[in-house]
Amino acid sequence: MTDQAALIKDMKERMGSDLCIMAHHYQNDAVVAQADIVGDSLELARQIPELQAGTIVMCGVYFMAESAAILARQGQRVVIPDREAGCLLSNMAPAAMVESMLEKLNSRGRHIVPLAYVNTSAAVKEVCGRYGGSVCTSANAMTMLKWAMDQGDGVLFLPDKNLARNTANKMGLPASTWEMLRLRRDGFSDQADLYIWPGVCVVHQLMKPKHLELIREQEPGARIIVHPECPPELVDLADASGSTSQIIRYVQEAEPGATIYIGTECHLVDRLRKRYQGSKTVKPLLLSWCSNMARITEAKLASLLQNLDTAEPVQVSDEEQQEALKALERMLAACA
Ligand code: 13P
Ligand code: SF4
Repeated sequence: MTDQAALIKDMKERMGSDLCIMAHHYQNDAVVAQADIVGDSLELARQIPELQAGTIVMCGVYFMAESAAILARQGQRVVIPDREAGCLLSNMAPAAMVESMLEKLNSRGRHIVPLAYVNTSAAVKEVCGRYGGSVCTSANAMTMLKWAMDQGDGVLFLPDKNLARNTANKMGLPASTWEMLRLRRDGFSDQADLYIWPGVCVVHQLMKPKHLELIREQEPGARIIVHPECPPELVDLADASGSTSQIIRYVQEAEPGATIYIGTECHLVDRLRKRYQGSKTVKPLLLSWCSNMARITEAKLASLLQNLDTAEPVQVSDEEQQEALKALERMLAACA
């Protein structure tokens, strides 16, 4: 055990049930080993309202800690080992731009409902709440897109264009009913059912059909599963797609001896590779890491726990809290 692991263990024993360490599946093994709860974005969000601990440590990126702070009860505090752990996808939709786009979309007599991927700031979730919209994750995007379509005349899905198109494809929505927004140029049609914000996750955008085609050529028996943040041209060719937890279940349920290629962040792929060594072969579709998820380390977690008294909690302003909570609660209610 490292010195830091020993320190964390000691703090966990001292604080007992007053401390809950949560970790996303993209965290490194040393951090995951310390977590009380490990999950995908939906599972992490779902657990927050149930937690009794006074201190919640979120080992993930900042929007995850903000969502936890929005969902936490009064008196609970949320902290994160590195406040600089952002998400590049979330940065692609600044709240002011989202609001201005929604104003325009709603200025022509149609009610366009925003549906924000959970990978967005609290400020964007607040705008979504105020416009009658909600939030989705990669695990429930289809349920939530159907929900949003029932609330008005059309939906603005943001910020991930790949998740939007993959979800629309899964639902069988014809491409003629969607419209990719051009943020630098004004102008959009009044006919679209689905307006798509043109953001991407750089970690998944690098994964392409050519990587899959090479595997199919060299190992025709291998199965391929990818995250829905990957481009639709790749998702369409894969055997399956799903959230990080759905990927984990896919590998778990594969027959012994199977070879499975995974198109997602490599900390998770590598953990699955080690977990199934000797029974199943797990390989990355492409080596691609999220540098922000990697900012959280065992050393930073240990240091945070040692300095909890002075740690700055993740806070959401009172103005943002109310509407952002509404947006998140609509998702939790629709997916109960
Ligand atoms: P999941 O919701 O599938 O865990 O994904 C979160 C994420 O950030 C993927 O890049
Ligand atoms: Fe954001 Fe992509 Fe990293 Fe997920 S993998 S946290 S979407 S940058």
